[in-house]
Order: sequence, then structure tokens, then C-alpha cells
Amino acid sequence: MSKKSSVLLIYTGGTIGMMQDVRSGELRPFDFKSLTKQIPELTKFDIELSSIAFKHPIDSSNMHPDVWVELATIIKNNYTSYDGFVILHGSDTMSFTASALSFMLENLNKPVVLTGSQLPIGIIRTDGKENLITAIEIAGSKLKGKPLVNEVCIYFEYKLYRGNRTFKYNSSHFDAFKSPNYPALAEAGVDISYNKNALLKPTKKALKIHTALNNDIAVLKLFPGISKKITSVIINTPGIKAIILETFGAGNATTEDWFLSEINQAISKGIIILNITQCHEGKVIQGMYETSSALKKMGVISGADLTFESAITKLMFLLGQQLNQTQLKKLLQSNLRGELSN
Ligand code: ASP
Repeated sequence: MSKKSSVLLIYTGGTIGMMQDVRSGELRPFDFKSLTKQIPELTKFDIELSSIAFKHPIDSSNMHPDVWVELATIIKNNYTSYDGFVILHGSDTMSFTASALSFMLENLNKPVVLTGSQLPIGIIRTDGKENLITAIEIAGSKLKGKPLVNEVCIYFEYKLYRGNRTFKYNSSHFDAFKSPNYPALAEAGVDISYNKNALLKPTKKALKIHTALNNDIAVLKLFPGISKKITSVIINTPGIKAIILETFGAGNATTEDWFLSEINQAISKGIIILNITQCHEGKVIQGMYETSSALKKMGVISGADLTFESAITKLMFLLGQQLNQTQLKKLLQSNLRGELSN
């Protein structure tokens, strides 16, 4: 491998590469060549840059686990040829893709940086140029010949985050992402300053990709007055393997008999119930209040400080493995890729 860093840019779509339809005014993805033409700076890098573009770029609201498999496979097939990877992606579901890839790419020893923008690259005030240029620089960064970052991240508006700790919280500001339960991994100013203690440590093991994902998952978001009828329909969805229970505060839920009995029945049928909080900061502590004690006793799993995006994709990943219930429950509560605080 040459001394110059090499980065593979993978273009999936998103606002960064969109253009306005003259008649309808709608934003639609356009091809990758037109995008790179808008950023002449890309030719000035001291990094060898190659690219792969999706034939049909997508708005990330059309993101799907099959595309995550495609992305993980592209990374695996090109893993030894590049020092790092940048994925251009729409911001709407970027946190889901980053979380999914973090679980799918086991023993990752190179940076995979997702980025995009809130304004298309062709717009004069675009945030896309800075995001893309710095993401490439981060993906190509090395220390003593070794990659500095060894995980799946999101770079947006001067901050690098651990992908599986993020969520999109703003649809109109340039700083669209937050990572409330984990510090930023780096901040870009005049220099890029890395928070070395926060980065995942490299491993000597070989990259292993997991492509079996199971989406037999339902989500039950609680609200005061939630009906027995709707709750029962969700919990009794045929074929369901896991339910994410989005609870209040530190993991609290109504203590009404009908509700606890529905949850109990689901657990006795072998359905995994994962308790995550509707709050963006803090974590689930089952048993802290009376309103979560019954859940704990029944065997509801605490999601601690997992984001919703991480909870969904971690379940898809674990349900896709050939695991028994005990192994699955153990791994669900274990910190696999830095997604959970100890
Ligand atoms: N709808 C766009 C997408 O996620 C929004 C964006 O890119 O920021 O593809």
C-alpha cells in the first residue's frame, strides 16, 4: 500500500447530491459525476480518492436493510485496498445506517465515516462541501501509519460522532445530529482535534461482516391513555420476535393490570421486550420507580442508554444470528460496539 492514504467514497444519495426539479420544486437525487464537478477541491487532496456510486441514488427515507448489506459488502470487498471509507448518505436515516453498520462490521480497524448535508452541493450556502472534505480527511488520517479512527462514525457540522450514539434531532439546522450520551470523537476547527480517550481501540482480529438481519420487530411507544386495543394488536402481531418498548423517563410505564398482563404474556411466548426511554439523554434504570419494577420482574430487558436507532439495528443484527434466548439477552445487554455505557 502506498504511503499516501487512500479513501473509498461510496455515494448512496441524500440531499448533498440532490437537485431541484424545475417544475415541481421537489428535491431529487442526481448522479455522482455532477456532484464531484461541484467540488473541484476533491482533486487537490493529498489522498488517493476512488469512488463507487449507487446506480440509482436514493433519498435516505427509502433506506432498507438490504442496502446496509450492500454497503457492508462493498466495505468488505475493498477493505484491504483502502485506509478508510466515506459514505455519502441522506441525513434522515443516517443514524440508522451508521448504527446498523457498526454491528454488521465486527473487528473494524479502519474509519467508516458517514456524511451528507442539509443543503444540496449546488447551493451556494451548502454545508455539503465542508462535511465531505473533512470526512475524507478523517477517513484518511493515520497515526504512525495506522488508522486513527477504527469505527463507524458520522461527521456533520464540525463534529465527528460515534454513529451508534447519534440521532437526527434537527431538520433545518446544519448541526443536525446529537450524541447526548457519548462525547464527540473529534472536532474540526483550524485542526481536527481528536478525543483519543473516546475512540474505540483497534483490534488484531480480522474483519468479519454479518449480513443476516431480521426485522421481525415491533415498536410500542407509550403515551398517557394508550389503549388496550392498540397495545394488544401490536404485541400480538403474528411472527414478531422482539418489541421495543419506548417508555417514560428512567424506563417507566403504566402499572395498569391489562398492560402488565399483555407484556407478561408476550414474554412467556418467547418475545424479547427491550425497554428504552423516550428521553434523549440519560438511561433506563428498571426498579428505580415502582412503575418499572414489575417490568424488571417479568424479564423485560433494560436498554440502558441505547438510542432508538441502535436498539432497532442491534435487535435486527442479534435476531439474525443463530442464538438461543439466553445468549441473545446477554448480548443485547452487552456493550458490543461502544453503543452502551458501562
Ligand atoms: N431527505 C434527505 C435524505 O435523507 C434529507 C437529507 O439528506 O438531509 O435523503
